[in-house]
Amino acid sequence: MKFGGTSVGSAERIRNVASLISASGKNMVVLSAMSGTTNMLVEIAGYLYNRNPEGARDTISKLEQKYYRVVRELYRSEEGKKKATQFIQEVFSFIGTFPKQLFGPVQEKILLAQGELISTHLMLFYLQEEGVNVTLLPALSFMKLDAQGEPDADFIHSRLVALMDEHKDAELYLTQGFICRNVQDEIDNLQRGGSDYTASLIGAALNAEEIQIWTDIDGMHDNDPRFVEHTRSVRHLHFEEAAELAYFGAKILHPTCIQPARYANIPVRLLNTMEPEAPGTLINNVPDPGTIKAVAAKDNIVAIKIKSSRMLLAHGFLRRVFEIFESYRTPIDMICTSEVGVSMSIDNTRYLSEIVHDLKKYGTVTVDLDMCIICVVGDMDWENVGFESKALSAMEDIPVRMVSYGGSNYNISFLVKEEDKERALKALSHSLFE
Ligand code: ADP
Ligand code: ASP
Ligand code: MG
Repeated sequence: MKFGGTSVGSAERIRNVASLISASGKNMVVLSAMSGTTNMLVEIAGYLYNRNPEGARDTISKLEQKYYRVVRELYRSEEGKKKATQFIQEVFSFIGTFPKQLFGPVQEKILLAQGELISTHLMLFYLQEEGVNVTLLPALSFMKLDAQGEPDADFIHSRLVALMDEHKDAELYLTQGFICRNVQDEIDNLQRGGSDYTASLIGAALNAEEIQIWTDIDGMHDNDPRFVEHTRSVRHLHFEEAAELAYFGAKILHPTCIQPARYANIPVRLLNTMEPEAPGTLINNVPDPGTIKAVAAKDNIVAIKIKSSRMLLAHGFLRRVFEIFESYRTPIDMICTSEVGVSMSIDNTRYLSEIVHDLKKYGTVTVDLDMCIICVVGDMDWENVGFESKALSAMEDIPVRMVSYGGSNYNISFLVKEEDKERALKALSHSLFE
């Protein structure tokens, strides 16, 4: 059971989660940092990189005060208050040493890890106060990355099982999402939003019956509720549909979260902490023929077109183009080809100018910035008729830069200007779900 930042975002929410988990039997509970904390830690890191210790100290102090308020509200007993206050004091006196030292990526990751360390300890002390026999298993002792920066599934499995064996009598296990160690054994993390990934890696390592992602909404909605009104919860998704939606911008799930679950064939359930009885969304490997499930959008996309009447038909041309992207470790999201040109989209623009420079060897290059991928997910098997045309016709008033269909059985994607995103999402909801 993984609980996100909003789910543990206040003393009241922590109490709420505590009653949910203590009523659910012997489970493994993964917690994110309280909402806002990781953003503030990132802000502190920003001040430290910019050599502004004053700015860092101000933000550290704001964050620390917030935690004392939580402690005052959360615990009933003096003992609970004392234990938690002491813990918060220790963490913040440690964080207070950062403005006095050299600051780099190693220190940044240690700093970012504090949010999950705090939230899990606050929950631990609260559950102990409530008389629950709970054991905190430190994620930094079992969540490990290999030399490629990928989770080391064997290590995670064997360490986790060993740790649980040492605490066989626990009624409940608690651990941190997001944080891990890298191959050098330094503190690291699974990228922003990565607690979902922690949950799915643990679920796979333990061969869990189910992986539950508890958040602040009743499951995956059929469109992005931040931009479209009256979206509805989707009851069921295939693993591939969920993976496409997560990758193409449905923030409720981290893009990497589906893969370990799907690999181990463990169902994932998205549930609402504020409404625990709601059915949420079940994700498994059962397809739903004949339905369109949901729409998502991914921002900050750049489209690159290379035109070359001379070379495109020659074999090896695409390989040379792709090699340029590979050499800059930049993944391509969408591709469209014609006889005279090829268009691609990327979301990592770190090496954009180098890529464009190298591509110019092979043809005329055009770049469109501030684009957005709109992805329609559902049963898009090519032998179905009507689904892709329904999605296309919704876009009739919107300039579309690229269309991608047929790459998988589960999606059709459009590349549009970021300024047209909201209009496109609304038009698709209107034509597909109303
Ligand atoms: P947590 O902190 O629990 O990890 P997140 O903020 O990461 O929660 O994800 C939940 C949020 O995702 C929702 O509050 C909602 O605004 C956003 N979201 C974006 N697209 C969707 C979607 N298709 N369905 C549900 N929620 C979505
Ligand atoms: N606390 C981390 C973040 O805000 C991880 C997570 O919440 O999933 O990115
Ligand atoms: Mg999240």
